[in-house]
Amino acid sequence: MDSFKKITSYVDKHESMLCELSDTIWGIAETRFEEYESATYFCGMLEKYGFKVEKAIGGLPTAFKGSFGTDDGPVIGYLGEYDALTGLDQKAGSTVKEPSEKKGPSGHGCGHNLLGGGAFTAALALKEFIEETKSPGKVVFYGCPAEEGGSGKAWMVREHVFDECDALLTWHPGTTNRVIPQVFLASIQAKFNFKGISAHAAACPEQGRSALDAMELTNVGIQFLREHVPSDVRMHYGVIDGGGNAANIVQPKASGLYQVRAPKMKDVNKVYERVIKVAKGAAMMTETEVEIVFDRCSSNNRLIRSLDEIVHANLVKAMPLDITDEDIAFAKEIRKTFPEDAIDSDALDFEKSFGEEGRKLADQIRDKEIVDVVSPLVPFSTQTSGSSDVGDVSWVRPVSQITIATYAKDTPGHSWQIVSQGKKPLAHKAMLKVGVVLGASGAQLLTEPALLAKVKKEFDEAYAREPYEWPIPADAKPPIPENR
Ligand SMILES: [Zn+2]
Ligand SMILES: [Zn+2]
Repeated sequence: MDSFKKITSYVDKHESMLCELSDTIWGIAETRFEEYESATYFCGMLEKYGFKVEKAIGGLPTAFKGSFGTDDGPVIGYLGEYDALTGLDQKAGSTVKEPSEKKGPSGHGCGHNLLGGGAFTAALALKEFIEETKSPGKVVFYGCPAEEGGSGKAWMVREHVFDECDALLTWHPGTTNRVIPQVFLASIQAKFNFKGISAHAAACPEQGRSALDAMELTNVGIQFLREHVPSDVRMHYGVIDGGGNAANIVQPKASGLYQVRAPKMKDVNKVYERVIKVAKGAAMMTETEVEIVFDRCSSNNRLIRSLDEIVHANLVKAMPLDITDEDIAFAKEIRKTFPEDAIDSDALDFEKSFGEEGRKLADQIRDKEIVDVVSPLVPFSTQTSGSSDVGDVSWVRPVSQITIATYAKDTPGHSWQIVSQGKKPLAHKAMLKVGVVLGASGAQLLTEPALLAKVKKEFDEAYAREPYEWPIPADAKPPIPENR
């Protein structure tokens, strides 16, 4: 039996356990750096299936890894996530927006229950492959917390967690079937804490110094700055604390989160420095103080074509998904709830990402409820407006990532519709298929030295051309809540 067939049989054998694992994480739904129960559950499963587990790695309490194998061969890593989003609680399998029976307001609106589950599936299949074939080498499953708003992997990269790997593989749940050809935007986020002096706003306003004014002026300054940055720069902010709810008090404190994104980290840094100047200027104008606390960052990603080729070949071999009439009927219903702007977004993305070929693919999926075509592997990359901390891993080790149609066509990201679809049969089938594609790719990298050598050579040349700029300040600490 060849390695692809072996991997498929291991995945098939564990099917029900793997779906249950993903569903369990869906039900826990913990947010950034709070994923204690999810991490404990994953560690228990890794131990149960024979992995050696290390907890709280990279200085993050909810990061962990499970390893299996020997030190005399390649090391293949799988990146798993399990963090949820706040405010996205939603009943599973429902086509109307309604809360679930579980406790708490968070929900898996980015599908990281499946992301962790798919990476776990691949890791387990490769572990069984190593065991059966006695191939030298190691498989490592990395539990990576706080992808959403915490960039857990960037902190893990700073602590050299992934240095042991020869290559890493991962996926993200989505609506299409492809090796992800896009490059993410690099991004930095910081918290600005403004401090002023409170006073009665009517009786003695001259005695007060408004932190809220400083924050508002910062925001105004950023709007003016927008005209003078490269057109692909994005700047966002969110108000954490406006000072208070009394209008007759000069607000003595205010704080907000500020984020800058650009195609490259060096451009992010340039604009970020200017945003800091705006905040300092606003503080000066209002005679308040501003404290700048680094919160998180993630880099754009480096694509390694020779690794993508291996994964793409396995993706083509593993597809299609077994899409049933029930899957299509449910997709049709839930698509009726999508905002008008979301409709045809997948077809438009095909045209944008895959050139002439993309236009043909767009036509093929126009009348479909679920995307069933596999995108080609194109020799060019396109820019996406999103960011991911997988980017930082890809600067220090070769990484490839895929997506498989987990949800109905055009499902918007970070939505209740994603939470609703997170335990459906289609989602399970996509997750298991990911296990086959990434597991089989891992088996090839482990047993075909020439393939791995080619990947490493391409990576080393890319690194020599453009080395990693370690983006996290040396004195920065991960924003882990202190209530534990
Ligand atoms: Zn997300
Ligand atoms: Zn995500």
